[in-house]
Amino acid sequence: MRTRFAPSPTGPLHLGHAFSALTAFDMAEAAGGTFLLRIEDIDRSRARPEWEAQIETDLAWLDIRWPGPVRRQSDHLDAYRRALQTLWDRGFLYPCSCSRRDILTALDAPQEGVTHGPDGPVYPGTCRPAAPPSGPLPVDAALRIDMRKAVQAIDGKSLGFTETGPRHAGTVHLSPDHLLTHVGDVVLARRDMGTSYHLSVCVDDAAQEVTHVVRGEDLFDATAIHVLLQRLLDLPSPVYHHHRLIRDAAGRRLAKRDDARAIARYREDGLTSGDLRARLGLSRAPAP
Ligand code: GLU
Repeated sequence: MRTRFAPSPTGPLHLGHAFSALTAFDMAEAAGGTFLLRIEDIDRSRARPEWEAQIETDLAWLDIRWPGPVRRQSDHLDAYRRALQTLWDRGFLYPCSCSRRDILTALDAPQEGVTHGPDGPVYPGTCRPAAPPSGPLPVDAALRIDMRKAVQAIDGKSLGFTETGPRHAGTVHLSPDHLLTHVGDVVLARRDMGTSYHLSVCVDDAAQEVTHVVRGEDLFDATAIHVLLQRLLDLPSPVYHHHRLIRDAAGRRLAKRDDARAIARYREDGLTSGDLRARLGLSRAPAP
C-alpha cells in the first residue's frame, strides 16, 4: 500500500490537513506500506518555500515520517506537458479564452440552467470547436477537455472506482451523462500554470505508484475527472478514501486563510500530537 499527503504550500496546515495526513499515514503503517509527501506547488503565484518548510515541521511534530526525496510538482512540468500532448494529439483538448465573467455572462442567458461541477459552473461550451483543433499544442493558453469527445472515446467501457471512505463506500460508477452534465469541459491546463490540479494529480499518483488516495470529501466530485483522465492516459486508478471534513465550532469548513486552527497554534499552546489525535477522534499512532 502506498498512500500520500499532497498539500499546496500556500498557507498553514490546519486541523483538516492534520486529519488527512494522519489518516493516510496510519493506513499505510497499519498495512506495512509507505506514506509519501508530495508538494503541490504548481500555483507559483501563491506557493512559498517558507510554507513548505512549515508543512514539514508540522508533519514531523505529528510523528509522521516519509521517505525522501519529496516530489515537488514544479519539478515535473515536463511530465504534465507530455500528458497534455497525448490528449491534444488525440483531439480531446481545445484552447479557451473565456474569462470567468464571460462564462457567467453566457450562463446568464435565460435558456441556460446553471449546474455546478467540481470546478464551479459547468462550462457552457463557448470556445468548443466543431472539429478538433490541429497544429502544435498551444502554449500560453488555457486548455479545456472536450467532454463529448472524451465520453465517446470511452464508449461503453466501464468508468468507476473503488471508494473506502465512510460516505460512498463501495464501487462508484460514473455515467457518461454525469460527466457531460455535471462535470463538462473542465480546464486541464491553466494559462498561468501550463497545467492544472486535475492533470498533475493523475500524472503524479501514477508516477509515485500511489495505491490509495486519502483526501477530504470536498474532492469526491473531482474524482470523476481523475478517473476519466486515468482511462484516457492509460494510467491505473488507485483506491479512493474520501474522509469526513473537519469543521470549526460553527460548522464551517476550515480554510487556509483561517489560521485560527493552524496546527502550529496548537503546538505553541503546548498541546502534544497525541492531544491533537484525540481531538480529531483518531487513536494513537501504531508503534514505529
Ligand atoms: N493539493 C491538493 C489539496 O491540498 C491535494 C488534493 C488531493 O489530495 O488530491 O487540496
